[in-house]
Amino acid sequence: MERIYIGMGSNLADPAEQLRSAVNALAQLPQTELVGVSAFYQSDSLLPGQPRYTNAVAALHSTLAPLDLLDALQAIENEQGRERLERWGPRTLDLDIVLFGDRLIDEPRLKVPHYHLQERAFVLYPLAELAPADLRLADGRMLSDLLAACPFVGLERLSQN
Ligand code: ATP
Ligand code: MG
Ligand code: MG
Repeated sequence: MERIYIGMGSNLADPAEQLRSAVNALAQLPQTELVGVSAFYQSDSLLPGQPRYTNAVAALHSTLAPLDLLDALQAIENEQGRERLERWGPRTLDLDIVLFGDRLIDEPRLKVPHYHLQERAFVLYPLAELAPADLRLADGRMLSDLLAACPFVGLERLSQN
């Protein structure tokens, strides 16, 4: 079993409900156990003019192969009405593999650790709720160092999921 962290985001069609549905779908994946969900956060969109996002991170234990998990996540996105019109456009649901055990993955369809992790407070702070404080990423970076370098800006932790 490998410990996997999934970054979730939505800014369309009742984002918190989208994340709750996504959590239910993750819990039903084959060969997979849902082991934790962070608080929900609201974050400013990276691109101007979009609604704010609701974000969270989920922790899984799974024996799925990374590309099989990616296929399953994209199926959940599609099921929840994800349309790919423009890069970084508003979306009902985005599910990204942030970390996959201690694997470094560099394939055309899948880069892990997620390549924007260090810039994204809306991933790092919820991740830190679930991951051990001394987590070392597969590429050698310490989660604590990434957090220290990424200010808690444009982010609001919600009291209820
Ligand atoms: P960003 O990657 O900046 O968060 P995004 O999540 O909006 O952008 P998507 O449209 O969801 O991007 O995905 C584009 C492609 O990214 C996917 O088809 C997938 O093959 C690829 N991809 C590469 N690495 C990952 C990863 N770690 N998790 C999910 N998708 C990934
Ligand atoms: Mg994304
Ligand atoms: Mg994505």
